[in-house]
Amino acid sequence: MVKGLGAAALTGSAAIRSRSARAQDKADVVVLGAGLSGLQSALLLEELGYSVLVLEGRDRIGGKVLTHKMPNGFVELGGQTIAAGYGRMRDLAARTRVELFDYLPRVMMDGAPVLALDQKVIAKTDWAGSPQNPFAPHNRDKMPWELASGVLAKHNPLADPGDWSDPKSFNLDVPFYDFLKAQGLSDAEIKLSYNTNVGYGTSAHDVSALMMFFIQSWNKQQSEGAPNMFGAPGGNTDIINGMAKELSTEVRLNQEVQSIDLSDAGVEVGCANGSRYSAKIAICSFPFSTLKYVDISPTLSGAQQQAVYTLPFMKITITVLETKEPFWVNDGLGPMTWTNGPAGIITGTRYGESDDVNALVSWTRGHDAARLDRLGPEHAKALVIQELEAARPAAKGKVKAVHYHSWGMEPFSAGDWAVFRPGQISAFRSEMANPHGRLFFCGEHTAVSNRGMEGALESAERVVFEALDRI
Ligand SMILES: Cc1cc2nc3c(=O)[nH]c(=O)nc-3n(C[C@H](O)[C@H](O)[C@H](O)COP(=O)(O)OP(=O)(O)OC[C@H]3O[C@@H](n4cnc5c(N)ncnc54)[C@H](O)[C@@H]3O)c2cc1C
Repeated sequence: MVKGLGAAALTGSAAIRSRSARAQDKADVVVLGAGLSGLQSALLLEELGYSVLVLEGRDRIGGKVLTHKMPNGFVELGGQTIAAGYGRMRDLAARTRVELFDYLPRVMMDGAPVLALDQKVIAKTDWAGSPQNPFAPHNRDKMPWELASGVLAKHNPLADPGDWSDPKSFNLDVPFYDFLKAQGLSDAEIKLSYNTNVGYGTSAHDVSALMMFFIQSWNKQQSEGAPNMFGAPGGNTDIINGMAKELSTEVRLNQEVQSIDLSDAGVEVGCANGSRYSAKIAICSFPFSTLKYVDISPTLSGAQQQAVYTLPFMKITITVLETKEPFWVNDGLGPMTWTNGPAGIITGTRYGESDDVNALVSWTRGHDAARLDRLGPEHAKALVIQELEAARPAAKGKVKAVHYHSWGMEPFSAGDWAVFRPGQISAFRSEMANPHGRLFFCGEHTAVSNRGMEGALESAERVVFEALDRI
């Protein structure tokens, strides 16, 4: 059953009154979620002189910004690269006294991975003539990760990234598959160059071409600058911690929000542990993948309700591999591997002070991530290592999985970034973050001009302006 519909209809004003009687804490604004967008909203409101309470379901702040500390350094498990065009993020880093550094060499994104299909390495020089290469003659020299992305970059019809939200562009809100086919790609080409290690959705069929056009043109705009990718030297969580320190009250952790009751007088928020909070308004930063389990009364309706219940969030699972020996020196192939199996894309990381690669990070996405989720962490880690060792025998016995993180299985994320399916931008994008009485919405998924961390901050600015009239 779709949570919230029936239940919300049953919880009338009597239920709201009984909940009010138990309200524990009051503020002008209750901010739901202590990720980037929630914390930024809270900081902006405090600067304007309002009292704010921030509630967070996890036992930590940061949401999808999560730095995993290791004995000699760290690996980012969530938001990592801050592009040159991220004005808000760069300003925030300065405000929290974090000096950003050039991140690209650290995560080796400046190098090309080794291609391993069906657990066999294919040298770049052999690829064009390989029987496993399904590309048409004029595409055979392109590596799998270059073809669909190259076609997208070359034929993107959006003049400006912002055009994605203009109804005049809605004729482009069709499957990305249709666009790739129209550019002459075969099914086999699409399968290998988009559906494998898919960045958005589970295949080109279930992602909107319009969203892909927006992301490609926005990415291009963001990375015009050099060096063009930044990170915090101690991990991006340092920025988050700096934000929390600036707040006048501590974030309330372990507050799993289950209900939001709205009336003319204000808002009441109920948590799984029985705590109640009241405020004049609420700002909710939850991704829709978790918001859909919250009982909002009166219930959402129309296009907004459709958005909350149906907007997909990407599945992504990360396995951190400690390397006992640099096996890539022995096989001479470099540390990174691009596979078409459950190990996904394996990147190299130089953490701490080291100039050498000292950890590998496997990024598994889409259906493969869902498969790892079903297997559970121990089986999943073993499978990732098994695939790497099969493709690169020099790795045998040289790698150990030291950390595993499934964003799909995290109850307070239930996925990673928002992915608009074909038709969803036209169906609900312009209405999905509309205020609902005294309840306002922010979060990366509601951003219009940006994505990722910059989008989360953009959404915070928008929601604070919207909310000012009602406080
Ligand atoms: C693997 C990965 C890589 C990424 N890489 C990049 C990158 O390189 N560059 C970039 O710009 N962005 C990147 N991102 C995206 C970026 O991290 C996010 O867009 C951004 O952090 C989202 O912030 P947010 O505030 O919108 O949402 P969130 O961080 O999800 O915050 C929402 C908060 O609400 C809480 N919450 C949810 N439900 C409840 C509930 N019922 N009760 C109480 N609390 C609840 C959550 O715990 C969370 O703290 C990446 C993300 C991931 C996961």
